[in-house]
Amino acid sequence: MPDTIDLDVPAHEHAARLRAGDYTARTLAEATLERVRAQEPSLHAYITLTDELALAQAAAADERLRAGEGGPLTGIPIGVKDLLSTKGVRTTAASKMLEQFTPVLDCTVVQRIQEAGAVIIGKTNLDEFAMGSSTEHSAFGPTHNPWDLDRVPGGSSGGSAATVAARGVPLSLGTDTGGSIRQPAALCGILGLKPTYGRVSRFGVVAFASSLDQVGPFGLDAEDVARLLGVIAGHDPNDSTTAPVPVPDYTEHFGRGLGGLRVGVPQQFLGEGLDDGVRQAIEQAIGVLEANGAVVDRSVTLPSADAALPVYYLIAPSEASANLARYDGVKYGYSYTSGASVEEEMSLTRGGGFGPEVKRRIMLGTYALSAGYYDAYYLKAQKVRTLIRREFEAALSDHDVILSPTSPSTAFRLGEKLDDPYAMYLNDLYTIPANIAGNAAISIPAGFADGLPVGLHLAGRPFEESRLLGAAHAYAQLTDWHTRQPSLPAV
Ligand code: GLN
Repeated sequence: MPDTIDLDVPAHEHAARLRAGDYTARTLAEATLERVRAQEPSLHAYITLTDELALAQAAAADERLRAGEGGPLTGIPIGVKDLLSTKGVRTTAASKMLEQFTPVLDCTVVQRIQEAGAVIIGKTNLDEFAMGSSTEHSAFGPTHNPWDLDRVPGGSSGGSAATVAARGVPLSLGTDTGGSIRQPAALCGILGLKPTYGRVSRFGVVAFASSLDQVGPFGLDAEDVARLLGVIAGHDPNDSTTAPVPVPDYTEHFGRGLGGLRVGVPQQFLGEGLDDGVRQAIEQAIGVLEANGAVVDRSVTLPSADAALPVYYLIAPSEASANLARYDGVKYGYSYTSGASVEEEMSLTRGGGFGPEVKRRIMLGTYALSAGYYDAYYLKAQKVRTLIRREFEAALSDHDVILSPTSPSTAFRLGEKLDDPYAMYLNDLYTIPANIAGNAAISIPAGFADGLPVGLHLAGRPFEESRLLGAAHAYAQLTDWHTRQPSLPAV
């Protein structure tokens, strides 16, 4: 047994060392908890640390490992976004509304990672109800970017991204409704994948916008992301939106290289609003792909994708306003009980329980759905959504992936965009189209601008996550961006 465990390695390295008996899941969990705790004052990546649960899960993992059983996740520490229900562990959605809410069951995804033997270290910080791009809208205070503590980690899954980037845990789970896995992955310099709509169960996940929400993995390399996706993907009888599509081995495209990969690069995604440093890094990455056999086509267009952001800000708030109607002070969490009437209690509960961004979304959504405006806003947005989906289908009929930056800028300063919701919304300009169309998409580390990480975004056909991971794996053989590590005080 070594005195110290190298916590900077990806999960598959830990898995090999656990199998070899170099250390136990218990010692790994203890070392992980110690490091995470030491990083928390700088990062604030977690809302709740789950020491007891982690040690119990680690003990169970050790038994399986001793018996020569278990798989790639057995004994591996993981962070779980605090939007995913965990039985007996409070699940807050980073909202005052759910501050005291302890679910009676695990969501399907958590159940699956537990069955696979993962060790849950804690519940990670996020923007309240996953609404935001900076994690600043958390009722528990913001998460900090490990590359520069004065900057945001992105959002809404900012805690999940920051803790993996800081090598607190090797793996984490987030959710992505409009970019909330990919944008923080980009801003923190790690990989993040949004699975195809219908690929991963949302049963037990606090709902934001049900026609867009997906759960997905963060990791340090393509192999880790592939392994975690393999565990959480698949049909779930408890979520009728999950597709009965078989789950492949997501490493099936590894080793194929980039030769012949048809890459569409819509010029509209490299135009106005994009930071120069990000553009340069992306152009360099395109150069690497091309030099290694990829066929890059810059003539592809997605004309309606320019409308994806406004379409999203009609559809997502509309669905949110319906989903959040359940927080009335009667069934869940926070409730204000000394009003003069039921109406007053409800209004005081919602007035006091929700933060300003959530209220903004509820108002936007309620307006878009109201009689007289429904046709002009919500219905029209749905029609444009169909156009965007068809354009993706057409573009991906003769291209394997659509390439763009993940985010128009690198990590911005805390507070910089808080008073300007529109500037905050523009962060998701390149990620939102894949949610609107329902496609699979990934962000991979692709360089730096002014010392801050830049993410490369690849969108692929529905259920072709393997192809995206294969491209990510091949690109990582040619560059070392994914191995760069922020210099946070290590334990
Ligand atoms: N930033 C986007 C929003 O605020 C996307 C959030 C998400 O994907 N959950 O809605």
